[in-house]
Amino acid sequence: MEKCDVAIVGAGPYGLSAAAHLASVKGLEVRLFGETMSFWERHMPEAMLLRSPWDGSHIADPENRLTLDAYRNVNGNGHLAEPLPLEEFIRYGHWFGEQAKLSPDRRKVMRIQPAPAGYQLELENGEPWFARRVVVAAGIQFFAHRPKIFARLPSSLVAHASEHRDFDKFRGKEVLVIGGGQSALETAALLSEAGAYVEVLVRNSKVHWLGRHQWMSSKRLAWMFYGRGGIGPAGVSLAIQRPDLFRRLPRRIQDWSGARAVRPAGAAWLKPRTQNVTIHTNALVDQVRIEGERLHLRLSDEDERIVDHVVLGTGYRVNLALYPFLPPEVLRRLDLVHGYPRLDAGLESSLSGLHFLGAPAAWSFGPLMKFVAGTEFSSNALRERILETSGPVRLAPYRQVPARLPQTRRPAANIAVSETRAFHESAASYPPNSAPPQT
Ligand SMILES: Cc1cc2nc3c(=O)[nH]c(=O)nc-3n(C[C@H](O)[C@H](O)[C@H](O)COP(=O)(O)OP(=O)(O)OC[C@H]3O[C@@H](n4cnc5c(N)ncnc54)[C@H](O)[C@@H]3O)c2cc1C
Repeated sequence: MEKCDVAIVGAGPYGLSAAAHLASVKGLEVRLFGETMSFWERHMPEAMLLRSPWDGSHIADPENRLTLDAYRNVNGNGHLAEPLPLEEFIRYGHWFGEQAKLSPDRRKVMRIQPAPAGYQLELENGEPWFARRVVVAAGIQFFAHRPKIFARLPSSLVAHASEHRDFDKFRGKEVLVIGGGQSALETAALLSEAGAYVEVLVRNSKVHWLGRHQWMSSKRLAWMFYGRGGIGPAGVSLAIQRPDLFRRLPRRIQDWSGARAVRPAGAAWLKPRTQNVTIHTNALVDQVRIEGERLHLRLSDEDERIVDHVVLGTGYRVNLALYPFLPPEVLRRLDLVHGYPRLDAGLESSLSGLHFLGAPAAWSFGPLMKFVAGTEFSSNALRERILETSGPVRLAPYRQVPARLPQTRRPAANIAVSETRAFHESAASYPPNSAPPQT
């Protein structure tokens, strides 16, 4: 059976960044599984613009040489600026992978199963792989939220926003978009620009448009109020940018600021693009039925709508049970809170040697983990964990131990780790997972 020290599942921004960081650890055999940037290529509108600011959209590498600025300089794309077009960000992701010499193995991982001293993976062609550690960076694709009332309707009539890439086929059609967040509002703008008649149903009493006071947005002052990722309101954003501090805040403050930071809202540049879109607030759908080839919807305020199509801009809800590659015996041994794994300082779960990056890490490390801006923190924390441990992974039951945080300094690239070789040899010398869970 083929073997590696660390298998990374998923080649989106988190998987790419983690692989680039671990590649700098000499002697560590790392295998990256998945197709580079495939979620961005297949599940986001072609004409989308990134909501995250330029400074919050770099995929982190250990030497800080594969930033968006470097990509722009090397490729002579002087015109590139914020907001960044999706297609350029996808190209940047591929360029990042090539520059970091990652060569992902495109095969999907179908199953991850505990095995003595590590994990056995089953690949889509049935081939088994053994890995001492597994880093799940599989993103949110499986968490697309479809409200129950729409559950049984065909996707030709009701589709989640992640199922649409271009909107030309809706020219002249009546389309209802459900949701008041960036994805719903941008979908509405793109539909309207493609010639559809669009209405947005928003549950809340108003649409929040993201904006900053002008004096706060000047480069000279913004750093005093906002983290690099630009996530959350002034002040709170600074705490969110420091997941190591954020996770030490009382749980209720984490929960409040986490929810506040990612509440449904649209980027200010979308507002003029939704001028021709009707926005209906305080609106919920009570009933829906198909008549002929159209949908009849009754709203909570007794209004009715008859439309050709509904787009669900209803977001994503993390729930590890929806990852098809995690079997029940793994799920049973994971300490889950509302579907999120409880992770320790090395982003390691209650199953030793099984790590989760990206959105699933948000319960433990805050909303930064839902954005590309979180790649720097998580890749460094992961690498530190791997540098500080050696030997095979011991599968221990989850234990509550006092919190210990990762150091935030960046270790120099290409550190030689004599212990990592021992991953392959030693079956007995691994220290128990001493790193603590988040409490
Ligand atoms: C419409 C939309 C707009 C967004 N805009 C922004 C933005 O402007 N800025 C921002 O920072 N974030 C944005 N996000 C959030 C964005 O999804 C995350 O920041 C980003 O995708 C996180 O990267 P990731 O690597 O965790 O996940 P992904 O990019 O989803 O990568 C995970 C990869 O793993 C692969 N995978 C899954 N299962 C397997 C398997 N079993 N085997 C192999 N591969 C597997 C997937 O196919 C995917 O390619 C947006 C999200 C949406 C839906």
